[in-house]
Amino acid sequence: MNYNVDERGYYGEFGGAFIPEMMYPNVKELADNYLKILNDKKFKDEFHSLLKHYVGRPSPLFFASRLSSFHNTKIFLKREDLNHTGAHKINNTVGQILIAKRLGKSRIIAETGAGQHGVATATVCALMGMKCIVFMGQADIERQSPNVLRMKMLGAEVVAVTSGNKTLKDATNEAIRDWISNPVDTYYIIGSVVGPHPYPDLVTRLQSVISEEMKFQVKELSGKENPDYIIACVGGGSNAIGSFYHYLNNKHVKLIAVEAGGKGIESGETAATMVTGRPGIIHGSRTMLMQTDDGQITEPYSISAGLDYPGIGPIHSYLHKIKRVIFDNVNDDEALEAAFRLTRLEGIVPALESAHALACLGKYQFHKEDVVVVTISGRGDKDMAAYIKYMERNSFDKSEKTI
Ligand SMILES: *Cc1c(COP(=O)(O)O)cnc(C)c1O
Repeated sequence: MNYNVDERGYYGEFGGAFIPEMMYPNVKELADNYLKILNDKKFKDEFHSLLKHYVGRPSPLFFASRLSSFHNTKIFLKREDLNHTGAHKINNTVGQILIAKRLGKSRIIAETGAGQHGVATATVCALMGMKCIVFMGQADIERQSPNVLRMKMLGAEVVAVTSGNKTLKDATNEAIRDWISNPVDTYYIIGSVVGPHPYPDLVTRLQSVISEEMKFQVKELSGKENPDYIIACVGGGSNAIGSFYHYLNNKHVKLIAVEAGGKGIESGETAATMVTGRPGIIHGSRTMLMQTDDGQITEPYSISAGLDYPGIGPIHSYLHKIKRVIFDNVNDDEALEAAFRLTRLEGIVPALESAHALACLGKYQFHKEDVVVVTISGRGDKDMAAYIKYMERNSFDKSEKTI
């Protein structure tokens, strides 16, 4: 079975490049060159050297023994939270900035919602001495001020987008507009396995380092050749596909992708695209999409900013359709509870996004000897405000007493 994109840029009926004509030369330049660059020995050496010495890879695989006892199985955590800048997003931005350099570009643009991809992009721009412009919705700028300040400290220009809902969708439109006006010197770093072909395939290949490392780590730690399950959260789907990639052809490995249920599928306040969406076009590709009857994109909701997206990468729509990956979802409260469980059992504060993958553990009946890998896509520092609210709501912190 071949899970790679076809030469037209499709995964079955999903994918493609639905873009304005003015953007075509930029996308074509990338499509014509990305595989050549990725396969070039010099590129590979530079990419892997930066992943090792700058990002801190390989990220550890950790046997979570107390969490394993709780769920009565063997749980291993793939620690993307320990990467430089605290999430998996840096794997992709390191790779794409090296591609931008090889294409002779000097100016980098990016879109960001919560600011995580913006920070990862601003970081590699500082590293490479490139000009960096990050488009961000005005509403998100107000909600995510620490990340805005981090980007500015890194030397990026943060452009406030005041059109539409002033969130990620509008920031993306603005980035596309900028790229059309600056076709010669500018490269657009997209942050997940979304967008027109070749971005979904490019980001998939760059993030596949996650499962490449798992191959030897699982064997070394568990003694088993392959894990029985791999579980990861999905917004656009880059940490999930990176975690699944090298196991797609191995039917014995069950793959579970976890979307954000928000306040519940029935509530309408959700980001669970596979359950509530149907095929449509968003950000240049055909994929599952949350939309109204007349095709207007529905505003998604999740407590976790990284999963709060109305679409999903086209490769996931395909893997869902052919039933290679199981798509599940958990709600805000289940994710919060799972985040506290991991923190109290293992001393690891996960990102709220990753907590969705952890919350899914309670929904399956594993065998005691199963090897279950959960990808911890990021660390929880950025989510402290939500965690503090949860503690107050549940008078959770019994360790602190007033005398
Ligand atoms: C951005 C983000 C996600 C969601 O993005 P994917 O492309 O679906 O991986 C998940 N976890 C963290 C920590 C993030 O920053």
